[in-house]
Amino acid sequence: MQVKVLSAKFDIPDANTLEVAKKHGAYATLDKIFAMQPEEVTEIVKESGLRGRGGAGFPTGLKWTFLPKDTDKPVYLAVNSDESEPATFKDRYILVRDPHLLIEGIIICCYAIRSHAAYIYIRGEYTSQVKVLQAAIDEAYAAGYLGESVAGFDFQLDVTVHRGAGAYICGEETALLESVEGKKGQPRSKPPFPAVEGLYGCPTIINNVQSISSLPFILANGAAAYKAYGTEKSAGTHLFGISGLVKKPGMYELPFGLPILDVLEQVAGGLRDNRTLKGIIPGGSSTPVLTAEEAKTVTLDYESMAAHGTMFGSGGIVVLDDTVDIVKLVENLIHFYHHESCGQCTPCREGLGWMLKIVQKILNYEGTMADIDLLLELCDNIEMKTVCVLSAACTMSTRSYLNKFRSEFEAYIAHSASKHATM
Ligand code: NAD
Repeated sequence: MQVKVLSAKFDIPDANTLEVAKKHGAYATLDKIFAMQPEEVTEIVKESGLRGRGGAGFPTGLKWTFLPKDTDKPVYLAVNSDESEPATFKDRYILVRDPHLLIEGIIICCYAIRSHAAYIYIRGEYTSQVKVLQAAIDEAYAAGYLGESVAGFDFQLDVTVHRGAGAYICGEETALLESVEGKKGQPRSKPPFPAVEGLYGCPTIINNVQSISSLPFILANGAAAYKAYGTEKSAGTHLFGISGLVKKPGMYELPFGLPILDVLEQVAGGLRDNRTLKGIIPGGSSTPVLTAEEAKTVTLDYESMAAHGTMFGSGGIVVLDDTVDIVKLVENLIHFYHHESCGQCTPCREGLGWMLKIVQKILNYEGTMADIDLLLELCDNIEMKTVCVLSAACTMSTRSYLNKFRSEFEAYIAHSASKHATM
C-alpha cells in the first residue's frame, strides 16, 4: 500500500545533505520552472489537485490565485512548520530526512507567487530538527540555490527560519504571522485572509511543509502523474502518522482513498494483544472520533471523512482499543485545548476551563446525568463564537465522544450515584 512520492529519499543515508540530495534529483526542477511564466507554474499546481496538508485541505494553487494582482507591496511566503496538533508527526520527517525537498518546493512556490522572502515557522520543541533544517538552508545558500540569484537565474530569494516558543496557537495561520512580527501569538479575524493582508500587512501565502514539499514531484512529473495517485477529489499521497494501540505505529506515505481498516491491518500491523477496536481519531485531536462500526466504511480521503461527519485533518490517526477510557481521554483532550487557549476570546478562555471542571467532576464520581447535557450545551455555546477555531476543535471532538460513547460517561455517573447512596 505504501508509496514513495514525498518520502523517496527518506531512507537514503545523509539525504539531508546537499551532496546526497542532489545525487538523487534535488533541485532538478529549477531549469524547468524558470523557463515558465509564474502563472504557468500555478496552473500546474491547480491542475494537480494538491490540497493544503496542514489539515484544512484548501486547494493550494487556488489559494495562490487569491493574491492581489499588480500589488506594489512585497509578497511573502510563510511555511507552517509548527506541527503542534496532537498525534501529528509527519512534517518533521521532511525537515530531517529531506530538507532540500522543502527548500526546492519553497523556490517553486516563491517563483509562482513572485515572492522574494520566505519564512519557515518551526515549532520551538523541534530543537534537533531546526539544526538539520538550518544546515540545509546554509548549504543551499553556499551553493547558490538561495540568495541573490537562485541557481544562476534572475530571481532573488531569501529564506529565514523563525522558531516558535511552544504555543499550539501559533500554528493557526494568523497567530503565526503575529508571532513572526514579534507580537503575542493571538489570531486575527478573517477576512481579510492573509493572501490579501498577511505578514506586515502585505499579501502572504501560508502553506504547510508537506504541501510545499509536494511541489517538486508535481513540477518534475506533471499534474497528471500526481493525480494518478489518490481519488478524483483527494489527489496524490499523504504522510500518515499512525499511533495508538497498534503493533506498528509509525509514519507511512499512502495514496488517498484506502480503506482505513485495511491500512490499520496491513500497514500498522493490527491491534496489539488481539484487542477489539473501540474507535479511531482520524486526523489529529481536533477531528471528531469514528466508532469501530463507522470505521468499516471510511476511506482515507477528504470526502469519505466528511461523509462520516468528521474531517480528514492532519493525517494523524490514533487507534483506540477496548482498554481506552473515553472519559479520561476527553479530560486529556479538553485539558490540552484549555491550556493552549490564547485567552483572547471569553468563550474559549472561560468555557474550556468550565468544560474541564465538569469532566473532572464526572471522573471524580461526583457527576450527574445533567452534566452530560450541560457539556453538550457548552459545546454549542462556545463553537464558532471566537476569532479562531481552537475552541471549535475542542468542542467538535468532545461532542463526538459524548454522543458516540455516552454510555461511558453514564457509567461513571451511575457509579457516583451508587457510591453516594451507600454513604
Ligand atoms: P481554514 O479552512 O479556515 O483555511 C484554510 C486555508 O485557506 C487558510 O490558509 C486560509 O487563509 C485559506 N482560505 C480559506 N478561505 C479563503 C478565502 N476565501 N480567501 C483566501 N484564503 C482563504 O482552516 P484553518 O483554520 O487555516 O485550519 C484548520 C485546520 O488546521 C483544521 O482542520 C486542523 O486539522 C488543522 N490543524 C493542523 C495542525 C497541525 O499541526 N498540522 C494544528 C492545528 C490544526
